[in-house]
Amino acid sequence: MAARTHTGMRGIAAVPSYVVMQPTTLCNLDCVYCYLPMRAADRRMPVAVAEAVAASVNPWAAAGRFSVVWHGGEPLAAGREHLAALLAPFGPEVEHHVQTNATLIDDAWCAFFAEHGVRVSVSVDGPRERNAERVTRGGRPAYDRILAGVAALRRHGVAFSALAVVSRPGPGLATELYDYFLDLGCDVLGVNIEETEGVNTRTNARDAGAVTAFWAELVAAWRRDPRIHLREVEWSLRYAGAVLAGTADELLPRSLDPIPTVAHDGSVVVLSPELAGFTDPRYGDFSSGNVLATPLVEILAAAGRTPWVGEFLAGVEACRSSCPYFGFCGGGHAANRYFELGRFDGTETEHCRNSKIRLLEGVLEHARDHESPAA
Ligand code: SF4
Repeated sequence: MAARTHTGMRGIAAVPSYVVMQPTTLCNLDCVYCYLPMRAADRRMPVAVAEAVAASVNPWAAAGRFSVVWHGGEPLAAGREHLAALLAPFGPEVEHHVQTNATLIDDAWCAFFAEHGVRVSVSVDGPRERNAERVTRGGRPAYDRILAGVAALRRHGVAFSALAVVSRPGPGLATELYDYFLDLGCDVLGVNIEETEGVNTRTNARDAGAVTAFWAELVAAWRRDPRIHLREVEWSLRYAGAVLAGTADELLPRSLDPIPTVAHDGSVVVLSPELAGFTDPRYGDFSSGNVLATPLVEILAAAGRTPWVGEFLAGVEACRSSCPYFGFCGGGHAANRYFELGRFDGTETEHCRNSKIRLLEGVLEHARDHESPAA
């Protein structure tokens, strides 16, 4: 695959496609690979923060599709009453999502999701033995509680997505996982290879062949029964199709989505939610402002002037000029650069090798192995 000039991903867009909100820092679980620094503390977002965000978001949502993703900590740990108060300032056009560990979901939460039109994504890593690292604060397996939450969703007919972390890709795992998620009943599945991020300092250097084979096997499993929207595979196939059609350059957005994360206290970190709550002697707290002092729309208009963001944009340009995968990847994620390389203007990371380069190679490997013999 030769490097080529791609024209997308220049600078940061003024309007995001979604905002991530942290209703509480608290999580009731203590997963071994979690990146969140303050997950044992219950710092709740004041309603004034939600009101300030809604003042910018409501006009965006009136103009086109717009989502607010409630992420934590564990967002449901904020409680129904408080979460309802945080949702209240947002207009009816705003789509709300929660990323949840599902352990708190019961009949009352299902009624809440229906009443507020909240879309649910559940974090679960596969069958019981694949969830050994998802544990309670007391260190006990959380799997039965996760499944009880999923059972409540199914009982109430609440559609849900799933997000799985894979720590040790190996032969047979992709098929096992895909079959598991078919049975679980999710509509959409995202698969993340574990990342070195935040307070999770475990290495994510993995055997290249094993990761590529994992993705190739996942494509094969999906093709046998493509009932689930499999996020990573659909991205890859869309890119491969566009390359063949000569339209690959149209796939990348023209500029980077700022994806603002609004922390519990109103501070805004752009591009990577995983940077929220961290500080660095060179970069400070990574924040581009606070919605209690400055409208979100103004914070985003000036976000490119945040020093670390400028450094990251230089890294994206380095990727553009050096990496043959840029047209698919678009330059990677800020948090992976920072937590792996200690800075933002590098290029390759273990994350992009595992989740971009080997993903695309795996899809191509599957295609090569299953191509029709030449006539
Ligand atoms: S982040 Fe990695 S895969 Fe993505 S463009 Fe940069 S070097 Fe390439």
